[in-house]
Amino acid sequence: MSITSNKLSTEQYNKNFQDIHPPFETIDAAKVEANRCLFCYDAPCMKSCPTGIDVPKFIKQITTGNVKGSAHTILSSNIMGAGCSKVCPVEKLCEGACVYNLMEEEAIPIAKLQRYSTEKAMEQQWQLFERKKNTGKKVAIVGAGPAGLSCAHVLSREGIDVTIYEKEKKGGGLMTYGIAAYKVTPSFCEDEVNYILSIGGITIQYEQELGKTIQLEDLRKKYDAVYMAIGVGLARKLAIPGEGLAGVVDAISFIYDIRNNGFNQVPVGDKVAVIGMGMTAIDAATQAKRLGASEVTMLYRRTQDEMPCTEVELNIAKLDGCKVIWLAAPKEVVGVNGKVTGLIAEKMKLGEPDAGGRRSPVPTGETFLLEVDMIIKAAGQTPFQQLIDNNNLENNQGKISSKNAVTNIKGVFAGGDCVNGGKEVVDAVQAGKDGASAIIQFLF
Ligand SMILES: Cc1cc2nc3c(=O)[nH]c(=O)nc-3n(C[C@H](O)[C@H](O)[C@H](O)COP(=O)(O)OP(=O)(O)OC[C@H]3O[C@@H](n4cnc5c(N)ncnc54)[C@H](O)[C@@H]3O)c2cc1C
Repeated sequence: MSITSNKLSTEQYNKNFQDIHPPFETIDAAKVEANRCLFCYDAPCMKSCPTGIDVPKFIKQITTGNVKGSAHTILSSNIMGAGCSKVCPVEKLCEGACVYNLMEEEAIPIAKLQRYSTEKAMEQQWQLFERKKNTGKKVAIVGAGPAGLSCAHVLSREGIDVTIYEKEKKGGGLMTYGIAAYKVTPSFCEDEVNYILSIGGITIQYEQELGKTIQLEDLRKKYDAVYMAIGVGLARKLAIPGEGLAGVVDAISFIYDIRNNGFNQVPVGDKVAVIGMGMTAIDAATQAKRLGASEVTMLYRRTQDEMPCTEVELNIAKLDGCKVIWLAAPKEVVGVNGKVTGLIAEKMKLGEPDAGGRRSPVPTGETFLLEVDMIIKAAGQTPFQQLIDNNNLENNQGKISSKNAVTNIKGVFAGGDCVNGGKEVVDAVQAGKDGASAIIQFLF
């Protein structure tokens, strides 16, 4: 057993990481599916989209060949509509709400149709929005992830100049650095950021980190308002003995390296354990397998009924050959010469429901050893608590406390993962829109 990079050939990597949901090749193929839409009067698909995209309208526009109009319908509600068409867990959102599910027929492939129109808009560089006359107002945004970019686009449309301060070298946030490579490629993310910026009036200052190279007080003096969109960056610790051994990595850094360094540069074990059962855990497990790990085992403290990922996501991991051990919690990492050789896990049983209504895992005292050479931690993220405290922002269990995007500091607004603790891209896009509305109300 060993942790090595370059386990596979270039062809094999490319095959393993190819697009998981291939697009429509032609408008006719898109029209066939679009014409199946029943255009329900109460559109449950639209109600279940956090950004409220008018799904029946954009699908109708595709049926008539009005792809530009369709892209405008999507992007005016969700400026990251192209990215969302690739990463949204649509089985629990728009497609999950499609009435065809009730008839036991295939739901309309809403995401694929959305992808068709929005990718055309990006390819053709259609500028679908016009900036209003410059208002003379200036807003600073911290973080160029989905929440920050969405807020910036709405403000720019209203004639407000925006400067985004981003600590990384690229924009897009977790979309660029965190999401599995078989869902979105780094080059697509770059194109999407550039497409958003093409409206004008938005500048991104890269490698600028709040708390280090820039300070909130200075931004407040220089700008008419500040929007905080810093996400939740840090992986939660397991807090068990042996966590410091070589071979224990966190899922976010593991995925960051895949996206930043290339497939053959990322070291992966032969036998890998992944702790957690959320979207991040699935992405880490499937990508470890696709990088060449011979065995990947996912451990989750509860049962399938309580898992945070969707059935579709679990099936991706299972189809990749990942194993799952339900009702098991990590207890100790064991190793030889400072390197991981195994994970001792404890069997759990389900107890009473917790505050969120999910039944809590209760230790049984019975343990077992899993022989592994790598452990990937994907048991949630912890917010940037210190940054929040240092800037005197009100702290809600480590997240920024805000009501309708308004924080305790006058002129400072917040939204996205840094407020909700970590949801999905589409929720962050909506948060950015809400933040922009609150800022506009404050400024005028
Ligand atoms: C591994 C993983 C996989 C995921 N997969 C999916 C998926 O398949 N589908 C889906 O819909 N969602 C997925 N999500 C969730 C989704 O990525 C997030 O909900 C979304 O990106 C949140 O957007 P945001 O703008 O609030 O934060 P982020 O995307 O985290 O963006 C925050 C930005 O702020 C910057 N920043 C942070 N601190 C500072 C600072 N001090 N100074 C300056 N800049 C700073 C960061 O570099 C980053 O660019 C996943 C999340 C993870 C971790």
